[in-house]
Amino acid sequence: MRLSQMLFVTLREDPAEAEIPSHKLLLRAGYIRRIGSGIYAYLPLMWRVLKKVSQIVREEMDATGAQECLLPQLQPAELWRESGRWDTYTQAEGIMFAFQDRQERELGLGPTHEEVITAIAKDTIRSYRQLPVCLYQIQSKFRDEIRPRFGLMRGREFIMKDAYSFDRDEEGLKKTYEDMYQAYSNILRRSGLAFRAVEADSGAIGGSGSHEFMILAEAGEDEVLYTDDQKYAANVEKAVSLPADVEQSRFTTYEKRETPDSETIEKLCRILRCSPTNVVKNVLYQAVYDTNITVLVLVSLRGDQEVNEVKLQNELAKLASQYNAKTLISLEIPAAALQQLWASKPLPLGYIAPDLADDYISPSKNVAPRFVRLVDKTAVELKNFVTGAGEVGYHFVGANWGEDFSQPQNVVDVRKATKGDRSLHDANQKLTTARGIEVGHIFQLGTKYSQAMNATYTSEQGEELPIYMGCYGVGVSRLAQAAVEQSYDKNGIIWPVAIAPYQVIISVPNVGDREQIAAAQELYNQLNQMGIETLLDDRDERAGVKFKDADLIGIPYRIVTGRSLKNGKVEIVERATGKAHEISLQDVPSTLKTWIDNALIA
Ligand code: ATP
Ligand code: MG
Repeated sequence: MRLSQMLFVTLREDPAEAEIPSHKLLLRAGYIRRIGSGIYAYLPLMWRVLKKVSQIVREEMDATGAQECLLPQLQPAELWRESGRWDTYTQAEGIMFAFQDRQERELGLGPTHEEVITAIAKDTIRSYRQLPVCLYQIQSKFRDEIRPRFGLMRGREFIMKDAYSFDRDEEGLKKTYEDMYQAYSNILRRSGLAFRAVEADSGAIGGSGSHEFMILAEAGEDEVLYTDDQKYAANVEKAVSLPADVEQSRFTTYEKRETPDSETIEKLCRILRCSPTNVVKNVLYQAVYDTNITVLVLVSLRGDQEVNEVKLQNELAKLASQYNAKTLISLEIPAAALQQLWASKPLPLGYIAPDLADDYISPSKNVAPRFVRLVDKTAVELKNFVTGAGEVGYHFVGANWGEDFSQPQNVVDVRKATKGDRSLHDANQKLTTARGIEVGHIFQLGTKYSQAMNATYTSEQGEELPIYMGCYGVGVSRLAQAAVEQSYDKNGIIWPVAIAPYQVIISVPNVGDREQIAAAQELYNQLNQMGIETLLDDRDERAGVKFKDADLIGIPYRIVTGRSLKNGKVEIVERATGKAHEISLQDVPSTLKTWIDNALIA
């Protein structure tokens, strides 16, 4: 492609709308344009990158035996009602764009396709002989993200590859899942990215096992905890660890102490001269289920620990049926105004005891009359602990479960693992933290959707059984931007060769020089004929502008038809290292071919 004929507009200044380097660079280098909040146009250079990423994804999916298809983006509400997700996706998480057509039928724009694919499986899969089978597609997804940001990282319309697998049983699903895990690792390795696969929470999609594939970068929205021996890595939402050791409590008798102004653990420990590991703190949450019932939750955990709200949500989701509900729609620490909606009298905030009486709740139709009391493992193990006295300005010291407070019934793991914690698999390994951009997520769904939607098959023994499903997503557009976030310098983007929009750019310093133009034209033809994707910068611009633009758009190899042309040579500059090589004209094609092939094998 000739630059003189392209829609090619670069910006010298950072656009005000962008915060992180990759977003700034993609805008400056003319890859994307913002059309609306979380809505972007992929300009020709970006589209080439996206097609390359898609092609790698496609090859790796095909290699697992999965088959490509294309499912509708327009999805009828009935399907989502069958799976029980319509309300959660249109109201609670509000992630689905939903609307009515002119016949007043409800529809949604696909944020994901479990419902559609399960309906297809139900119609088409009859017998064990048809299993296993796996389908995938690459298309635009729509999600009404509350905070779209960072350009393609979190858009409201974005490109995803999603695959869905169908197996006879759990064992088959596990095997398919392993194949996908391998395919995902291949996709990221081949795309030239540094990544880590981490254990992940399954979230609203449901199911059991799940991994996320994280591109390591400072701007990542996720926190990853891992050990240096490479044996453990997990999203902080899911991570487990050994908490720090408990210090021996110095309180041996149970008594009430005056502790004025001690509403934080820090102040309390200073006043009582004790360790936060001796304290049981009691945190109040307010949960709302999809039946609109509000449930008050008291979480007790060790003073030096924090609540992992994802783990807490998962625990509370398990209780949904007790409230005739299917799912949890919100969870928060109730602010004063919210408390007034249900509290019968002022709560002793900062001094709450594990046995906070249920009569603090003013009974009503939409508020559950009793607290759900969850006690984290870290708190259950404590002896002679300090905890709130249920009265402002007072704490108990030397308290014990089973004596001063009844033995906890609901013991859970809701603590947040943090860096520096010892790992469960080997206490000598400490957890380290890193930021990551989630570009892929794979799930073992099990029979959650097949049971809800009645997708069954007949086994060899003639039994009617639910199909075991898995689902596997890659954010194609997010991956492309994450590649930039991982690889750029002050001059611009440094694309990995495998996903660069073009592999080579020929910059002609002086288009008025016949010899330069002739040599450039000749190389351009040769390279393109060999299948090396080459740009020709034949614009009537100063050499400095051309070099700057070539660096900004990040093409891996730049050929300069400059002074050395008199000796039958050109200069080739490697974008990543800045290294320049003088190469004879006749050797240019073979040299570049070798470099590119090597870069692609890696
Ligand atoms: P996140 O936690 O970042 O919101 P998710 O868990 O909702 O993502 P999945 O449902 O697992 O995402 O979707 C599969 C993949 O699609 C993600 O791993 C990510 O790469 C991509 N993706 C999800 N949401 C967006 C978005 N709003 N914009 C761009 N890519 C996205
Ligand atoms: Mg995810």
